[in-house]
Amino acid sequence: MNKCVLISNLKKERPHLEEVLNLYEKLLQFKEKVKGASKVEEVLTPFAEIFDVPYEFVDFLKESIKKLNEDPFNNPLCLKDLPLEKEQGEEVERSLFILMKGFYLASERKGEYSFEEGKCPVCGSSPSLALIDEDNRRYIVCTLCETRGKIFRIGCANCLVRDPTQIDLLVDEDEIRIDLCKNCKSYIKSFKADVFDRFRDLFLIDLISLPLDVVAQERGYERKSPNVLGIRKV
Ligand SMILES: [Zn+2]
Ligand SMILES: [Zn+2]
Repeated sequence: MNKCVLISNLKKERPHLEEVLNLYEKLLQFKEKVKGASKVEEVLTPFAEIFDVPYEFVDFLKESIKKLNEDPFNNPLCLKDLPLEKEQGEEVERSLFILMKGFYLASERKGEYSFEEGKCPVCGSSPSLALIDEDNRRYIVCTLCETRGKIFRIGCANCLVRDPTQIDLLVDEDEIRIDLCKNCKSYIKSFKADVFDRFRDLFLIDLISLPLDVVAQERGYERKSPNVLGIRKV
């Protein structure tokens, strides 16, 4: 099934996710547009158009990025130094996340990566999403720069505790699960290859299982990095 049809079916089946899925469709368009970008405008323009960002804010971003004296394609994290008021809150944080993602995804990265230090080897984000393949190997996928890399199968991907008794499980009706770490009170979401085969999109699986995030967070566990839309606290 093609992705547009799949998403539109999901919206009908799960009306509580409609808003999130609408935003995800925009993100997919944005990701397509930034491929191969090498100029700041080539990321900012689609960002503004697709997400209906006010003109003045885009101009402000363009000017402030120039003043950073750093190439955001080399180091997208430099955008964290933009003079944005912290009190503007979550919406600005999410915009920044998506913008950084645009710069990360402009060029393709190849190679073998490892998350065994508990951080993304490319952007330094904490793990929050994992795929378990047919051979029972676990891979973390970074929700920001989308790097995929291996990690040990059992234990917490954040504090690296390997003791299986420290991990509790939550599983939803799609067989998507959450590993709760009692040691550091963080959690990550994971799913097996058969779940992936059903949806063919890791980040979409992360979004449709938002209700699991709600349960984990209500129990006092923290998601250490946002989902693909920049949403961390639900
Ligand atoms: Zn990353
Ligand atoms: Zn832990």
